[in-house]
Amino acid sequence: MTKVYYESDADIRVLHDRRVGIIGYGNQGRAQALNLRDSGVTPLIGVRKDETRARAEEDGFATADVADAAKQCDVLMILIPDEVMPEVFDESSRQHLNEGDAICFATGYNVAFGMLTPPQNVDVVMVAPRMIGQGVRDTYVEGSGFPSFVGVHQDATDKALAVCLAIAQGIGTTRSGALELTFAQEAELDLFTEQGFGPAFGQVLMASLQTLIDAGYPEEAALVEILLSGEFAYSMQKIREIGFFKQMELHSNTSQYGSMTRGMRFIIPELHDKLAGVLKEITSGDFAREWTAEQEAGHPMLAQLREMRTMHPIAEWERKTRNAFRMDPPDV
Ligand code: NDP
Repeated sequence: MTKVYYESDADIRVLHDRRVGIIGYGNQGRAQALNLRDSGVTPLIGVRKDETRARAEEDGFATADVADAAKQCDVLMILIPDEVMPEVFDESSRQHLNEGDAICFATGYNVAFGMLTPPQNVDVVMVAPRMIGQGVRDTYVEGSGFPSFVGVHQDATDKALAVCLAIAQGIGTTRSGALELTFAQEAELDLFTEQGFGPAFGQVLMASLQTLIDAGYPEEAALVEILLSGEFAYSMQKIREIGFFKQMELHSNTSQYGSMTRGMRFIIPELHDKLAGVLKEITSGDFAREWTAEQEAGHPMLAQLREMRTMHPIAEWERKTRNAFRMDPPDV
């Protein structure tokens, strides 16, 4: 039975006599630091001397170099990009960990796929938000919280779960629910969404746009119909709020009849096989090895693919549509 932890399972006081440090002050680092502080645990921020450090200080946090923070703290939350994490950990944190310290990751990726092997005498836990950093902060401030996956990879002190849940409570996720998973399961699910569900869905979007444009509909009309009106995003939001089938009742009878009769045509067994193939590459570690090799080679394939995507006409279709409907893209 899958375990989900809530507020009553956690006790943030576990962190009151520990020095908590956060390495990194980016998307997750800043949001989690602010939430923790509002929950009564003020972390030390381990960050390089640059504008990011200045921002942490403007926000009122004490800062230190990464190695210094690792030295001073006994609970270390590592919130830097996954690509640099093994090297930064090995160079600036590993040697400063003491027996019984705890390290916390926001994804199981590096540990699960063997890129980072923590020392055996520390607790190793995961609190992995299912939410971008801004959402981690906004939902905390609103009071609702956000879902996450949590887990203990290594329990050196018999207290690893308590530390894990205290961090989860401190950043606000036990308000919504923190579901227990292994590091590998969390990383695999995350990669599957990125590599299976997301791109498969993207292809359906693209094929639909192309079908309409090939049939002679104006590009602006196709873009608004399928994507940019926000109607589809609204339906997805309703699926989240009231359920997949229940949200169908918000659509007309014509819509329900048409989508259910035609929907069956898109039950394509090959799709399942393709998704299963993607999942297998993930769980076997093939993807992680491929991605590490790509990084070591200086990202040649990533650069090529980024170049190729600029050639797709969707950017021009979008530009025309945004002009037509006076939709200014937000600054990102
Ligand atoms: P960011 O890219 O936002 O991290 C930026 C921070 O990392 C900055 O403080 C930056 O410092 C620091 N950093 C980058 N490179 C180095 C380095 N070589 N040495 C020291 N510090 C460095 O990361 P995220 O917040 O997006 O991700 C952090 C973790 O959270 C990852 O494990 C990720 O998988 C996980 N996660 C992320 C989610 C998200 O929505 N982004 C969702 C759930 C989990 P500087 O500015 O000085 O370069």
